[in-house]
Amino acid sequence: MKIKTKLNAGVGLLFFMIIVLSTLGGWFIYQLKKDTQNILTDNYNTLQYSRNMLLSLEEIGKEPFAMAEFQKNLDLQRQNITEDGEKEATKNILAHFSDLKKDKENLSLQAAIRKDIAELMQLNMNAIQIKSGIANTTAQNAIAVISIAGTLCFLIAFILMVNLPANISNPIRELTSSIHQIAKQNYRERVQFESNSEFGELAKSFNTMAEKLQEYSESRIDKILKGKKRIETLIDNMHDAVIGIDENRKVLFVNDEALKISGLKRENFVGKLIQDVAVSNDLVRDLIKEIINPDAEKNPAELLKIFVEGKENYFEKEILDINVIPTGENDSRFIGQVIMLRNITPFKELDLAKTHFIGTVSHEFKTPISSIQMGLQLLENEKIGSLNEEQQKLIKGIDEDALRLLKITSELLNIAQLETGVSQLNIRQFKIGEIIEEVIKTNRSAADKRQISIITDIDSDLEIINADQEKTLWVLNNLVSNAVRYSNGQSDVIIKVEKIGLENVKFSVKDQGLGIEEKYLKDIFTRYFRVPGTKTEGTGLGLSISKEFIEAQGGSISVESEVGNGSIFSFILKMK
Ligand code: ADP
Repeated sequence: MKIKTKLNAGVGLLFFMIIVLSTLGGWFIYQLKKDTQNILTDNYNTLQYSRNMLLSLEEIGKEPFAMAEFQKNLDLQRQNITEDGEKEATKNILAHFSDLKKDKENLSLQAAIRKDIAELMQLNMNAIQIKSGIANTTAQNAIAVISIAGTLCFLIAFILMVNLPANISNPIRELTSSIHQIAKQNYRERVQFESNSEFGELAKSFNTMAEKLQEYSESRIDKILKGKKRIETLIDNMHDAVIGIDENRKVLFVNDEALKISGLKRENFVGKLIQDVAVSNDLVRDLIKEIINPDAEKNPAELLKIFVEGKENYFEKEILDINVIPTGENDSRFIGQVIMLRNITPFKELDLAKTHFIGTVSHEFKTPISSIQMGLQLLENEKIGSLNEEQQKLIKGIDEDALRLLKITSELLNIAQLETGVSQLNIRQFKIGEIIEEVIKTNRSAADKRQISIITDIDSDLEIINADQEKTLWVLNNLVSNAVRYSNGQSDVIIKVEKIGLENVKFSVKDQGLGIEEKYLKDIFTRYFRVPGTKTEGTGLGLSISKEFIEAQGGSISVESEVGNGSIFSFILKMK
């Protein structure tokens, strides 16, 4: 039944019961009134007339109006005959009164009338008693009927009071609890109500909604699971090793490549704290160095050389932090890290092939360039034959180009040797003066051309040094050549050699050239770096090779420079 119908029926029933009770009450009051009215009109009046007649009878003979008064009350009584026997009693009074009219002093007639009146009164008094009994019964019946009807009404009202609110509130309570369950993502929750009430319709709509939510959530979970599987398959099939850890450094996933290169089994890796795994595995220990100690200096170019299945493999390490912004929040939260080992072996192999190629080509170039230089020297020799001015100019140009070619091939060869690890140190004692002389000789013609004087300032008690002569000469030569190339004309280049402390020697080359902007100083020793806008030809390799040559000997190289005021490049080596 519909709630509205239930409410209407309940209120209607109460309304009906009020009407029934009021009607019953009214009817009984009316009955009681009728009973008392009967007594009043039927009997009370007769008693009143009888009393008057008795009083008039006493006055007959003394009062002239007594007869008329008696006649008047008798007439009224004759019109008010209501009880059985009353008619006969009245008739007797009338008969005796007619006789009395003729003989007013007749005492026996008076006594007879008194007796008749007494009988009449007795009759009416009896009637009053009977009618009072009837009224009593009516009152008792009224009390009984109204009590029963009242009790019935109370029971019905009580049942309505107990049932009707519960009928409305129970489904609401059940619905509220189901809504709470749905809010907790328990989409299997359903409500069951009486199907034909309004709550039945509500329950139906609610259940449909819950079913749809369940369907949606299941399809979403299915989608998420499929997506997860896809990503896992992707990660597993990558040639790069991938390890995922959570914010507590517990390993969440490891792909096949990571297992292969670490030599670990999945069950000994996943679910364990990575630092615990690192205790028994050198590779993992190396990988998590930065994670365990984030303040340690990072070396981005660091490559890991790992033997996998009997072959050398090169990996580049990268650690990514995973930060997410949780739904409804503004700040991102750290939830873990992914350690990636990018397999760069194919690139490394190509790079090595390139280096070998450059090494071979530059080596092969050295002999023909030397022959060209020798041929040029012979051509310049006047004993062989004199050259005209134009030919001399051409020879000079070829000589300069040959020199530049030699510089480039020497740099490329050095780079190739450094990259392949072929370059070896040859430490022995040599005279500092020898390399200074050689450097001046090599750079003289270029310096002269630009009217640059190469000045030396060598500590007098410095003669011998224990170092790699060839490499030290190469570095000093590169610094002086740069100083000449990047200087304006008519200036000085000073080569200074001084003792630093008891053990070290400092070589510095000072020029009065262009200088270098401060922001480029940190990159100046990087391979292929050239200060933007540099017009002089070059490869950007000289300083980086110099740095490696000096550091290989345990020394250090540095630069001081000011734009417009020139630069000082210096390196320090151990004397012994
Ligand atoms: P390259 O001279 O072949 O370009 P280097 O490695 O020797 O290569 O030098 C790198 C860069 O540093 C140069 O291109 C130049 O811009 C700058 N540089 C080197 N030496 C000096 C110097 N003495 N004065 C000004 N700039 C210099």
